Amino acid sequence: MKVLVINCGSSSLKYQVLDMSNESLLAKGLVERIGIEGSAISHEKTGMKEKFVLTEPMETHRDAIKNVIGALLDSKYGVVASMDEIGAVGHRVVHAGEKYADSIVINGKVMDVLLECEELAPLHNPPNILGINACRELMPTTPMVAVFDTAFHQTMPPEAYTYALPYEYYEKYGIRKYGFHGTSHKYVSERAADILGVNLDDLKIITCHLGNGASVTAIKRGKSIDTSMGFTPLEGLVMGTRSGDMDPAILSYISEKEGLSFAEVMNVLNKESGVLGISGVSSDFRDLENAVEEGNERAALAIKVFAHKVRFYIGAYIAIMNGVDAIVFTAGVGENSIEMRDVICAELGNLGIKLDLVKNKIRGKETIISRDDSKVAILLVPTNEELMIARDTYRLTK
Ligand code: ADP
Repeated sequence: MKVLVINCGSSSLKYQVLDMSNESLLAKGLVERIGIEGSAISHEKTGMKEKFVLTEPMETHRDAIKNVIGALLDSKYGVVASMDEIGAVGHRVVHAGEKYADSIVINGKVMDVLLECEELAPLHNPPNILGINACRELMPTTPMVAVFDTAFHQTMPPEAYTYALPYEYYEKYGIRKYGFHGTSHKYVSERAADILGVNLDDLKIITCHLGNGASVTAIKRGKSIDTSMGFTPLEGLVMGTRSGDMDPAILSYISEKEGLSFAEVMNVLNKESGVLGISGVSSDFRDLENAVEEGNERAALAIKVFAHKVRFYIGAYIAIMNGVDAIVFTAGVGENSIEMRDVICAELGNLGIKLDLVKNKIRGKETIISRDDSKVAILLVPTNEELMIARDTYRLTK
């Protein structure tokens, strides 16, 4: 069975087609600038060097999906002769509130729930829903599955997800920690257990998903028991442009001092903060590392603050789990930044965490990077959220 995986953002759409008989990737692509001038699709068929690129106005997500279907059916770059060959479509959906702890086959009732959850993720869920609606319209007989970023974290106990606010806000508005990047944390923890040759049920793992958005999760016996992102993906680690944890009183203070509305302050916390805010250089860690080499002190500070927060959460999660067997690094920074892994793991030796500085000189490959005498295994595992979405889609529709 072939599965199409769709990940819709507000102005972009990423997709992959996988053959689930051997989980191989047949094609992948990206539509950018949906609803903005200069819309384009770039499509790559596995094994072909040359990409298929088409620049054409795409006003809506429906226009984008139409072009995806066109690329999949193309005589040269396509991977199916008819869309009937696509057995199911898996959609990444960011927020399912407390409604779903697993992926689910989409029907009218599920769509109603997703609409209810829009309020919880106003930036993310609406484009996810647009993508689903467009696919349901253009592929009316193909089963669709929703795979949620929040689902994996539904196993967190109340003491981890409850905020110390008047309890009625939880009851009335669902204000609690939900956590995100669940598909990634689940995937890399399962891979780590496989690589170590140990049953997931016997492991305490801390997974560090360090990308533009970043989060750390404590996973005990294969279940998420705490995670650094919260009610929204703003809480927790310092990120590319997001502040992460801070004293909430700062919000009203900035609002007053700068004459900004709460919405404007939120925009600063989401888009102008993080390592970009501290450094004034960039949200991209490659730029920061280059700037440090040129002697930029604020870029160096941004990297230190970022690493400090990751270490802070690693320590917290060791306490919460009463120990740790493995620490996993994944996502853009976690997979590629040798320096960042080095800074994070430096001086954790007393906790039994010893990085092998030679083994660590590697990017983007599944491997163990701890020293032989390290009590805790440190692993590098490239994430693959699309494969997880395809697996769930296949499991629920085959
Ligand atoms: P997201 O999916 O959240 O957009 P990614 O997981 O793709 O983010 O991570 C993107 C980030 O990874 C980039 O902003 C960049 O900072 C970082 N990154 C990618 N390659 C490298 C590298 N070689 N060295 C350091 N950082 C890198």
